[in-house]
Amino acid sequence: MDYQKLIEKAKETHSLERAEIISLLQATDQQEELAAAADCVRREFVGDAVHLRGLLEFSNICRQNCLYCGLRRDNDRVERYRLSEDEILDFAAKAKSYGYKTLVMQSGEDLHFTVDIMTKILRQIKAMGMAITLSIGEKSYEEYQVYKAAGADRYLLRIETTDKALYEKMDPGMSFANRVRCLRDLKSLGYEVGTGSLVGLPGQSVESLADDILFFKALDADMVGIGPFIPNSDTPLKDEPGGSFERSRRLVSLLRLLLPEANIPATTAMETLNKNARVIVLQSGANVVMPNVTEGDYRRKYALYPGKICISDTPAHCRGCIGGKIASIGRYVADDQGFRQKNL
Ligand code: SAH
Ligand code: SF4
Repeated sequence: MDYQKLIEKAKETHSLERAEIISLLQATDQQEELAAAADCVRREFVGDAVHLRGLLEFSNICRQNCLYCGLRRDNDRVERYRLSEDEILDFAAKAKSYGYKTLVMQSGEDLHFTVDIMTKILRQIKAMGMAITLSIGEKSYEEYQVYKAAGADRYLLRIETTDKALYEKMDPGMSFANRVRCLRDLKSLGYEVGTGSLVGLPGQSVESLADDILFFKALDADMVGIGPFIPNSDTPLKDEPGGSFERSRRLVSLLRLLLPEANIPATTAMETLNKNARVIVLQSGANVVMPNVTEGDYRRKYALYPGKICISDTPAHCRGCIGGKIASIGRYVADDQGFRQKNL
């Protein structure tokens, strides 16, 4: 197989056959050529700006039971917390003071946050002049509609895997069809939609990863976040091997080639596996980083997976650290809200 030819084809046409995606994902060499092509397409389509999104982990209480996740409801070893409305608004105001233009509000599926409570919070954060991304799981069309009207601009909901049988095994009690329904509803309501995959789930095939990419393309995803699965000792998957950094990075590069205008983050889970990950991934196709703005002990308690970076750092430290990394590779922090630019 002539991988270089495939990389050139993806770079020129932003389109590959399923079999071609599979062979590029399977290959272990030509990683740097793939990353360089993705870096070139990144520069051409989304430029040198890096968008920072402040990530606020506002509750680790969850009604779902995803096998891979430390916040699953059956895990009684995680110390549960839920921020008050005042704490959320305080952290949001601080995020703004560090210069973040977007607040990403992420949590488990915590039913305490009713439509009324969420709407009140969203309105107040919106009034601060921030773009808002929600990442709070599966809701009804009506609920997504109310949040949009209250000021939410974007929504993150990973498909995790497009292998339906694997999805339903990994997420007991959840249905693949409903996950897809949520993503379609969010798109039709005018949200910028972020989705993505967990790489290295037990039993996940390379073919299904290629299908993930084709799914993101068909959905016209505005943002795609890729993270390696990291086994958590408090979950049923504790003895599984976990995903690889290089495989995740290959996926990021392929995504940039095939969805050239998408916003693609260098994810925190990548940095758990490689301490220079954010810099490497920003040079392999990514253009977004989501620094943590959760303060104090909450950060440690939001334990999706072990080895989470920077759990004892302050948000101010994180802002300085990531700014330095971005400048060190000749890039700059964007000063706009970083909505997707549509060129195609
Ligand atoms: N409850 C919401 C948002 C919080 S979970 C939701 O599920 O959409 C956010 C993401 O964390 C999930 O989409 C999943 O991809 C990731 N995650 C959970 N457990 C993980 C693990 N063990 N390793 C890596 N990522 C994990
Ligand atoms: Fe809950 Fe999200 Fe974790 Fe699933 S991945 S258990 S929905 S927090």
